[in-house]
Amino acid sequence: MSKQHEPASDSHSNTVAVQATNDDASASKLSCVKKGYMKDDYIHLFVRRPVRRSPIINRGYFSRWAALRKLLFQFLDCEGGTDDKSHTKKQILSIGAGFDTTFFQLQDEGKVPYLYVELDFKEVTSKKAAFIESYSQLRDKVGASASISREKGEVLSDHYKLLPIDLRDLQKLDDVIALADMDPSLPTFIIAECVLIYLDPDSTRGIVGWAAKSFSTAIFFLYEQIHPDDAFGQQMIRNLESRGCALLGLHATPTLLAKEKLFLDQGWQMSRWWARL
Ligand code: SAH
Repeated sequence: MSKQHEPASDSHSNTVAVQATNDDASASKLSCVKKGYMKDDYIHLFVRRPVRRSPIINRGYFSRWAALRKLLFQFLDCEGGTDDKSHTKKQILSIGAGFDTTFFQLQDEGKVPYLYVELDFKEVTSKKAAFIESYSQLRDKVGASASISREKGEVLSDHYKLLPIDLRDLQKLDDVIALADMDPSLPTFIIAECVLIYLDPDSTRGIVGWAAKSFSTAIFFLYEQIHPDDAFGQQMIRNLESRGCALLGLHATPTLLAKEKLFLDQGWQMSRWWARL
C-alpha cells in the first residue's frame, strides 16, 4: 500500500527506521568479519551489540563487500590517459554512507584517493564523528589536522570529509559538494549501497540525474534490493515493514532493467549490472 501524503509522524518514524538499517548493516558486517568471510579491522568499533548472523546473511554481506571492492579497485587502479599514475587524482562520494569503513580500509591498503567524501543524515554523521574522535585507530587515519565536530556531525580533513545532509534536498547537495571541495572535473566514483531504495522514486530520480549533471567523468555504483514479488522479496519486505521501514523505491524499479532505464533516462551513458540470486 502506498500513501501519497504521509503524516509527519509516520515519515519521522520511517526516517528513524531507515537510519537503523545502518546499525543492522554494521552488525551484519561484523558477523561476517568474525566468521572470516572478509577483513575489516574497523567495523567492530562501530557496533555496540555484536550478533551472529546465519550463513545465508553472512554470504550475502560478503558478496556485497566483494562486489563493491572489485569495481572500486578497478576504478582506483585504472590510470587516466598518459599521465603518471601518481598524478591521476580521483575522488569517491559515498551517499548514505552510514558507518561504512571503506575509507579506513583503503588507507591500510595504500589505495586512498585524493578525496573521499561521505554523506548521511546528521543523526548518523554525528555518531560517526563521535566514533572517529574517540578511537585513535580512526582519528589517526583522518589525520592530525582534521577538524571533528560531533555537534555539527562533521569531519573535515584534507583527504576525507564527512558531512550531514538529507539527500532529498538537491540544492543542499550542491552546497555540500562545494563545501567538501569536490572537483566536478575529476574522475568520481559514487557509492549508493542500500540507500536510494528507501527514498521515494522522485527523490531517487533527482539524485541520479543530479549526479550525471554534476560530474563530467563518473561511475555510479548502485547496490540494492530487487524483485519484490518473488518469495525472497516478499519475506524481505515483511521483515523490513515489521521494523517500520518501507522500501519506498522498490516498486518503481523492481528489476535490473528498470534500474538501468532509470539511469539511462537521467543522463548516464551506459549501465552494467549483475544479480545475486
Ligand atoms: N551505505 C551503508 C549504509 C546503508 S544503511 C552501508 O552499506 O553499510 C542506509 C543509510 O542511508 C543509513 O545510514 C541512512 O541514514 C542513509 N539514508 C537514507 N536516506 C537518507 C537521506 N534521505 N539522506 C541522507 N541519508 C540517508
